[in-house]
Amino acid sequence: MKPTITTQPLVNGDRLNQNIARLATIGALPNGGVKRIAYSHEDLQARNLVQQWMREIEMEVRIDAAGNIIGKYPGKHAAAPALATGSHIDTVPCGGHYDGAYGVLAGLEAVQVLKEHQLQLNRSVEVIVFTDEEGSMIGSKAISGRVINDPGYYRRPDGTDIYSCLKAIGGNWDSLATARRSSQDIAAFVELHVEQGPILESMNKQIGVVEGIVGQRRFNITVKGSANHAGTTPMSMRHDALVAAARVILAVNKIGNTPGQQVATVGKMQVLPNAANVVPGWVEMSLDIRDLSSLHIDSLLEQLRTYLEEIAVATNTQIRLNPCLHNEPALAEPQIQSAIARCCKKLNLSYTYLPSRASHDAQEMAQVTDMGMIFVPSEMGVSHDASEYTSPEQCVRGANVLLQTLIELDSELSK
Ligand SMILES: [Zn+2]
Repeated sequence: MKPTITTQPLVNGDRLNQNIARLATIGALPNGGVKRIAYSHEDLQARNLVQQWMREIEMEVRIDAAGNIIGKYPGKHAAAPALATGSHIDTVPCGGHYDGAYGVLAGLEAVQVLKEHQLQLNRSVEVIVFTDEEGSMIGSKAISGRVINDPGYYRRPDGTDIYSCLKAIGGNWDSLATARRSSQDIAAFVELHVEQGPILESMNKQIGVVEGIVGQRRFNITVKGSANHAGTTPMSMRHDALVAAARVILAVNKIGNTPGQQVATVGKMQVLPNAANVVPGWVEMSLDIRDLSSLHIDSLLEQLRTYLEEIAVATNTQIRLNPCLHNEPALAEPQIQSAIARCCKKLNLSYTYLPSRASHDAQEMAQVTDMGMIFVPSEMGVSHDASEYTSPEQCVRGANVLLQTLIELDSELSK
């Protein structure tokens, strides 16, 4: 008698990669990139195609008030909180084929494979296409209940208002509150995404198990010196704001380079009066600092404040640190992280744990329910560019991990 071979369902790699390529034709740019800005004609076309694909695999499709497309593959226990996955299909003005689209299409592929294997899970599986990830993240923010209650805030850069944008995609600003979800109807959310960074490639790992999405804080740093004649003011009598600012940049770089996974950047600077023959009197610059631990960011900022005081004394200037953005880290649920790691082992894939330093809809979903994220490598770490590339093999590996993770979580949650 032959031994029974238990095969785990695997995704259809050709179909997945064909769908990625097909979706990338909508909004295709001559340089190979994709332009599919949220609410644009191309976005609408892509949204229609994805809905058509959802219906072809007999998912129940609805659009919530925030315009999120929600496809559902019903489980055995219709009333039990669902397992959800998904991502976005809007792009930056010149994006690639994979950012967002990959996660949505891998979710659909996972559902199609479940159906083909006549595998109905205990829980329903939802694939969510979030509205405007690259801009306002209004889709996932409506689900988490964190939309700012001011339509003016969501006015588009081209001047169009949010009422008409949402209406065009089947949503409705006035009933946005109805889009809100809770852990009562979503038991877990897992987003599959390209890494958009160089870590996996540099470590030669096939899968990234995301530990969480880093917290981000932004500050305006102002340096007040005094402007004066660049010829007649002796070096010893200057209050040179730009010299102080240069030291501030080095101090920021120094805290960025202390042990840890943090990143710290001065990316923007304005000098006044910005003239060749005047000692600079005023500098305004940005500080962006990110880490998975809020406490660690606090201690780095404490260190930076000490440096700034020293620099101010040494340069006869006044330096101020004014907060302008504070996003808390969104941690991935340890139970989901270990489910993803187990699936990697089962599939014989190499993996590592890493933080996500880019924003994702998953960070909003972490407000709603247990969240996890799976990364696949991005060639040269490039994203938000036409040259963004993840190999077909890698796309298939990530999709298989997603499929297995959904199955794993379904059985784990049913225990
Ligand atoms: Zn994305």
